Amino acid sequence: MARTTDAVCRKCRREGTKLFLKGERCVGPKCSFTRRSYAPGQHGPGSRIRLSEYGTQLREKQKAKGIYGIFERQFANYYDKAKKVKGEAGMLSLVERRLDNVVYRLGFAPSRSAARQIVSHGHIVLNGKKNTIPSYQIKIGDKITFANPKESLAIEAMKNIKKSVPTSWLKIDNGIAEVTSLPAKEDIGGEVEERLIIEYYSR
Ligand code: SF4
Repeated sequence: MARTTDAVCRKCRREGTKLFLKGERCVGPKCSFTRRSYAPGQHGPGSRIRLSEYGTQLREKQKAKGIYGIFERQFANYYDKAKKVKGEAGMLSLVERRLDNVVYRLGFAPSRSAARQIVSHGHIVLNGKKNTIPSYQIKIGDKITFANPKESLAIEAMKNIKKSVPTSWLKIDNGIAEVTSLPAKEDIGGEVEERLIIEYYSR
C-alpha cells in the first residue's frame, strides 16, 4: 500500500462511491461522500459525464487502486503475475493476499493505510516472526498476531475487532488469526469489477 498525499476523501467523490479509506470516519456523519456525493472540483455538482468503454475500465482500475492504496506499477505487477499463475485465483485475489490487507480484513486496523503502518512499524508477527513487509503474500496456514498483545494498540484492536471475521478464508481464535484458505473471487466482495480491470490492462 503506497503513501499518498492526495486528499483521501476526494478519491471517494471522484469514483462516486465510498472507498472506506479513513476508518471510523467513513461510517459516521463526517464522511465527505455522505455530505457531498458529487465529483470534486468546479464542475462537480452538475457534471454528467458519459464514460467511454475505456473510461469505464480506467475508472474501475483507479477505484481498485484507491481501495487498496497501491501505486500503478505495483498494481500492474499483480496483473502480470496473475497472468502467469495458472489455476490460481485472479489478480484481485493476489491483492487480497497482501499482509496489510489481511490485517485490515481481520479488524486489527480501522483502514488499510493504518494496517500498512501497523505492519511496517513491526507490530505484526507472522508464524512467530516479525514481518514488516505490507505486500507480503500470505499462504494457507499462516498465523498472524500482534507482536505485543499487551501494548495499547493490540488491546484497542482486540476491543474493536469484529465479532466474526467477515471472510470465509480467515479465522481468529484467542487473538491469533489463521489463513484457512486463499481468497476466492466471491470473498473479495462486490466493490470492484475485476473483469473491467483485466480488460484495461489487456488492451
Ligand atoms: Fe471516503 Fe471515508 Fe472520506 Fe467518506 S470518510 S469520503 S468513505 S475516505
